Amino acid sequence: MNIGQEILENLKEEITESEYKRYIKQLTYDVKKSTPELAIYYAPNALVVNWIKNKYTEKIAHLFEVKTGSKVTVKITLKNLLDKRKTKKTVEVKQGSSLLNPSHSFSNFMVGGSNQFAYAGVKSASEHPGTTYNPIFIYGGVGLGKTHLMQAAGNVLQNEGKVVIYTTVEQFLNDFIRHVRNKTMERFQEKYRKCDVLLIDDIQFLSGKEGIQEEFFHTFEALKGAGKQIIMTADKHPKKIGGLEARLQSRFEWGLVTDIQPPELETKIAIIEKKCEINKVKLSKEIVNYIATVIDSNVREIEGILSKLHAYSQLMHIEIDLEFTKNVLKDQMNEKRENLTMDTITEIVAKDLNIKPSEIRSKGRSKNIVYARRISIYICRELTQNTMPQLAQYFGMKDHTAISHTIKKINDLIKDDEDFKLKIDELTNKITTAS
Ligand code: ADP
Ligand code: MG
Repeated sequence: MNIGQEILENLKEEITESEYKRYIKQLTYDVKKSTPELAIYYAPNALVVNWIKNKYTEKIAHLFEVKTGSKVTVKITLKNLLDKRKTKKTVEVKQGSSLLNPSHSFSNFMVGGSNQFAYAGVKSASEHPGTTYNPIFIYGGVGLGKTHLMQAAGNVLQNEGKVVIYTTVEQFLNDFIRHVRNKTMERFQEKYRKCDVLLIDDIQFLSGKEGIQEEFFHTFEALKGAGKQIIMTADKHPKKIGGLEARLQSRFEWGLVTDIQPPELETKIAIIEKKCEINKVKLSKEIVNYIATVIDSNVREIEGILSKLHAYSQLMHIEIDLEFTKNVLKDQMNEKRENLTMDTITEIVAKDLNIKPSEIRSKGRSKNIVYARRISIYICRELTQNTMPQLAQYFGMKDHTAISHTIKKINDLIKDDEDFKLKIDELTNKITTAS
């Protein structure tokens, strides 16, 4: 028996029989590619990979350390890349399409204090297009329902036989370039200036792009002049976008400018219940409430979590209970963290403590620089997969022992000083929700 297999046998004694059969038994150890520092295991599919990563890697690593006396990184990965390729393909199809999503309807949109003005404005435009509020400009953070809401109006009007165009600024720009290249600008103008309703997403991407601003200005004038409804979204208020021609910016404010705020708990709960209904996922009230409190603002994450819950429970024949939900959510957070870099962490810490990121990585010995550097090192160790030598190199420290001293110091401080602990928690929160 190879060492990898032996470790799994040891693990068997620490977990239940059914856990072992369900997950651990599915793992195979790669004798060839594994090294004394790196243990590679394969799992049959992505769901099992995630599940095991989440629940067992630490245990496995610990058993290795006990057995061999050295620290081993445990890597759980897919047996073949087939599943990966499949998921990639579906994503591509989604992104390329500019059609209206039929489930983005008014009845599927939950209204609360955070979005009621935007809702009322868009609803009214869907009933009296081109008259009451024109244009409508909705702004707010990622995943708060801007696209959903604008498409809800689009769906209503399309069903009434109106010609509705939904596009992003990016697609509009690509379309423009293509028509310029093919010398078919009349067709471009015909298409965008003759529709009944224009829904255009992510207006902030017009910033600094003069050519397309000019074209969009004329499109806007033609539509507005003909009493056609225009709805736009952006991540900020028109005044804050910057790099916009004055005439465009002022026109964006002609009609209704309204924001969408992150949903309150009640609205979040209603949204989760709605999504469960649409996706035919059954969750107890307790679990719905739990998800609503854990997800801070981005509603888009809710769908990811529900489909994961659903998929895991189907695959593993498990009832979705609170324990299970907590695990899946943890998994979701970890996935987010995988993309986290040391640059991002130092940037956020530096900004928070009012110094420059370059100072954190310098040899500076002044008190606040050392303080910021220690905190950054600690958080990088917590949130990224970098080794101590990698951290030492990045932060310009002598070697890995300097790093482990720093981490020990911070750990001591956290134990002794409640305020300091709060500071670290706050920064960690900022960093993990930044993306
Ligand atoms: P944005 O365009 O603001 O980034 P989206 O419109 O793409 O956000 O919304 C992200 C996801 O969240 C979509 O699946 C959408 O259906 C859902 N969503 C957001 N707000 C609501 C809401 N109030 N009611 C129901 N679903 C919502
Ligand atoms: Mg959007």
